[in-house]
Amino acid sequence: MNIKVSKILLLLLMFAFALSNCSGQKSKKPENITKSEYAIVIHGGAGNFSLDDISKERQIEYQEKLKESLLAGKKVLKSNGSAIDAVEACINILEDSPLFNAGKGSVFTHSGTNEMDASIMNGNNRNVGAVAGVKHIKNPISGARAVMEKSKHVMLSGDGADRFAASVGLDTVAIDYFYTERRWQQLQQILKKEKQQGLNSKKGTVGCVVYDKNGNLAAGTSTGGMGNKMYGRIGDSPIVGCGSFADNNTCGISFTGHGEYIIRMVAAHDIAALMEYKNMDLKAAMTEVILNKLKKIGGDAGAIGIDKNGNIEMIFNTTGMFRGFLKAGKEPEIFLDSSNTNRFK
Ligand code: ASP
Repeated sequence: MNIKVSKILLLLLMFAFALSNCSGQKSKKPENITKSEYAIVIHGGAGNFSLDDISKERQIEYQEKLKESLLAGKKVLKSNGSAIDAVEACINILEDSPLFNAGKGSVFTHSGTNEMDASIMNGNNRNVGAVAGVKHIKNPISGARAVMEKSKHVMLSGDGADRFAASVGLDTVAIDYFYTERRWQQLQQILKKEKQQGLNSKKGTVGCVVYDKNGNLAAGTSTGGMGNKMYGRIGDSPIVGCGSFADNNTCGISFTGHGEYIIRMVAAHDIAALMEYKNMDLKAAMTEVILNKLKKIGGDAGAIGIDKNGNIEMIFNTTGMFRGFLKAGKEPEIFLDSSNTNRFK
């Protein structure tokens, strides 16, 4: 056999091998799992509260705003938007409402300022963006997204973040935009009641996790932080792996609750790690982190999550967590306290 012929034979062999590999992949059995077309889950904060302390009218306002947020996310997904687009749209609605502790309705620090934190993460490529301690960005979640997409960095804080947001054309506002009488009175009450300075975990932080039709997960969290926090304090919400996490191989998560404990537990990433390394499902992993690990160290918290097949979970160790979800072809479902915890199953 001359060299030319043997080269041709070799090429033919390689071609046949490549073909057999391709067809091998095609004939791989499909996984026996029903995947959701899309799924959206949101929270409006966890806390130890009684619905008896919230007027019926106020409860309806909360429910309607949460529903509006879910429907905004659905609209984005229906018009071919991505999971990230939907997370931003859902959270923007809640940030613009004075009802929630994020954006417009942010709580006050001990010094009487409003300082907001937010993060957003794309489970498709693990890109992430965050802003911390911002005072002028009208929608901190959009600031976080801009950091992810328009800067070389992952997190910007304070003045630098506010200036960056303005430079990329985001809405920035004067600090009195974030003044709401309700939050101011809340701070006055906390200051009156407390001899020593303590943090006050008012429900109201907002978060969202979305699973889109391409199987991409995204998660975001936005907050005014803990009421009566020290000037300059940064919580879990802008920290990747603590307040938010998303990875298409495991899950998307958004946390709410006492940030210092959520940070110590690296809670959102811990859930994903239990799924990846211990093969737990989303419910088991969230239960372990929220009802066992966080509970043990005294961390009041709750989280929402979606796994890589679009399954939703909402778990908290407080008396309530404002929350809701929407699945393809279904009506939004909203819950405020611990009732109906398993209805989404
Ligand atoms: N986790 C937020 C923080 O510690 C507060 C909350 O979710 O209520 O800043």
